[in-house]
Amino acid sequence: MSKVLDEVLTANQTYAADFGDKGKLPMPPGRRFAILTCMDARLDPAKYAGLAEGDAHVIRNAGGRASDDAIRSLVISYKLLGTREWFVIHHTDCGMETFTDDVMRKLLRGSLKTASVDANGWHDPGGVGSHEGEHISWLTISNLEKSVVEDVERIRRLPLVPGEIPIYGYIYDVRSGRLVEVPEATAAGVAR
Ligand code: ZN
Repeated sequence: MSKVLDEVLTANQTYAADFGDKGKLPMPPGRRFAILTCMDARLDPAKYAGLAEGDAHVIRNAGGRASDDAIRSLVISYKLLGTREWFVIHHTDCGMETFTDDVMRKLLRGSLKTASVDANGWHDPGGVGSHEGEHISWLTISNLEKSVVEDVERIRRLPLVPGEIPIYGYIYDVRSGRLVEVPEATAAGVAR
């Protein structure tokens, strides 16, 4: 068994041993909100936003971007499970600021092995690659504030999203743990 697999299963046994009443939680999030945020390992939405099991939906992807699939989840979140407020939370030092679609596509054409990065950018170790990366928009970030504004605006414009849901735009600072508002985003996401 891999070390990680062993660690995860051991941690889960400890967690489940003290599960208590959580088995009785209803499916809809009790505090009726959803967070769209980045998958970055330094971000723990349960901690930075004070969540317990059953409180809120947390939708995560690379960058916390309003991708088609994130939107699918958000629509399900209100339409079937009753959330009433949404947060879009990107963060400082996001990996999505370190490359572009062109760079990612070139790296994948180079090989499928893990790339390395230094002051001169990303480098591929070489090997057998794939052109499939050409068909994916990697939703990279060139300006953090702008990416939050764009994503809030995109969600706000969707015909499937009711106007009464406020969408708040924030940047999580990985150095301090603080959430910093992006006022232009929150203004774009204001409930109508
Ligand atoms: Zn990130």
